[in-house]
Amino acid sequence: MSLGRHIRTCSVCHHEQREEIESAFIYWRSPAAIAEEYSLSDRASVYRHAHALGLFPKRQRNVRAALEHIIEKAGEVDVTASAVVAAVQAYAKINSAGEWIDRTESVSLNELFDRMSTNELEAYAQSGALPEWFQATVARA
Ligand SMILES: [Zn+2]
Repeated sequence: MSLGRHIRTCSVCHHEQREEIESAFIYWRSPAAIAEEYSLSDRASVYRHAHALGLFPKRQRNVRAALEHIIEKAGEVDVTASAVVAAVQAYAKINSAGEWIDRTESVSLNELFDRMSTNELEAYAQSGALPEWFQATVARA
């Protein structure tokens, strides 16, 4: 779909709080929660807008926000203790540009997030659950 056609049909593009919606998405808020809070028809409209405007790569680069989200959610959802510890350790090593700053470290969390499928990202956005392979890779780091 062309951007022009997207803009004509998109409820997010025409929303008064469009910027707030976009930044909520980039900071890993659940699209379902965003849709509810801003009275959008459903989370699919959030995803469509994010795809059209290139917000997915921006969100994936925002690794620190993702890790903060895991750490914050630790008390609410059933995240394993080792995942939280790994997230805290990773958070301490990542600079604000999303780059891993441990000199001896070869794992790029950005790459891991890039490798996640849409379903995995959605599961993560909704429940904080990371795929097994992701946790295993971070835990080895
Ligand atoms: Zn839009």
